[in-house]
Amino acid sequence: MRDDSIVREILTVAHEIVGGLFEPPPKMVDSITAWVVGTLAYRMETRLRLRLDDYEEHKDWSGVNFSRPRTVPGFVSVGDIDELEKVGVEGLKKRLRADIARMKKYISASPIKPRFVDKKWQRAFKIDLSGWKYLSRVKKADPENLKRAKHIYPSVKAEIDMRDNDSTTSAEWYIVQRRLVVHVDIYVEGSGLVEHPGETIRGLRRTIAHELRHFSQDYLRIIVGSHDKAGLPSRKHRTPDVEQSLGKNRKYVPPKVQKTIDRLESQGITSDIFHDLDDVEFYTELVGAIEEISDNLPYFKDNRKGALLSMVGAGEKLRGAYPLKFMLSLKQHAPGKWKKAVKEIVRALL
Ligand SMILES: [Zn+2]
Repeated sequence: MRDDSIVREILTVAHEIVGGLFEPPPKMVDSITAWVVGTLAYRMETRLRLRLDDYEEHKDWSGVNFSRPRTVPGFVSVGDIDELEKVGVEGLKKRLRADIARMKKYISASPIKPRFVDKKWQRAFKIDLSGWKYLSRVKKADPENLKRAKHIYPSVKAEIDMRDNDSTTSAEWYIVQRRLVVHVDIYVEGSGLVEHPGETIRGLRRTIAHELRHFSQDYLRIIVGSHDKAGLPSRKHRTPDVEQSLGKNRKYVPPKVQKTIDRLESQGITSDIFHDLDDVEFYTELVGAIEEISDNLPYFKDNRKGALLSMVGAGEKLRGAYPLKFMLSLKQHAPGKWKKAVKEIVRALL
């Protein structure tokens, strides 16, 4: 089955994946993001509704003085007092109702109904490659490889880990389990979904896209029939001895691993930058860097180029346009990757 044209095809795919920016299947990013948002909204809606119930049930507000804590009903939080002073009980109820209505919209936009499965917020998502940048190439791949890919990836498992009062969204991709875990905050006042939904949804989408790029690296590796991962920087720029797993908190560090860590640290490569220098993170972090810089550029209308160069660590430092940690790590310890990253960022944004 492997005639020359297929081999050429595969080499082209491998080349394309190495060059340019690395994109995950857009439909999968869409559906997983909508499900995470819907599930988060489902939890927030419950919480908001319980709060509204408290306010609805408390009929007599006549003796309540918000500047005298002992007269305030127990369910009223400190945050609410500030708002109640400004907008009054009716105003607060109105705001809660509006928030609840918005959460309901997010819930109904979810492709899959939010529900608990085996004590977890988790679902399997089918592999949907429609609209993917590499789809036409995938279609032409060796049928044996395609079969393997379908066998190894019948679906991608997604799981949401909900935490109270933990303000940052993060995620991990577990390659062996083919599982994506997203950590989100459900502290009602702190939850971005209620307070600043646009920004929060965008952040979730980026996080999910990042992790699905790791899925794509592995999926394409199988399609191309390579042992090496796809979507890595070109060989001459790689830093294969630095891996993010070295910096993992573990009870026991094998002597061999410790030796590597010691050697890296003696070169100034400390554990906080292992992730930045990991070859599998080059394209994923690069896209993240482009998004972050693109968000900031509008503040530098008169000097976009100067601001961009400052943020990539190439030019004069501009006030407010701070160099990204990822870019500084590359510049110092992987100059080949850094140059490639700067080139791609300039190409994408200038
Ligand atoms: Zn990553």
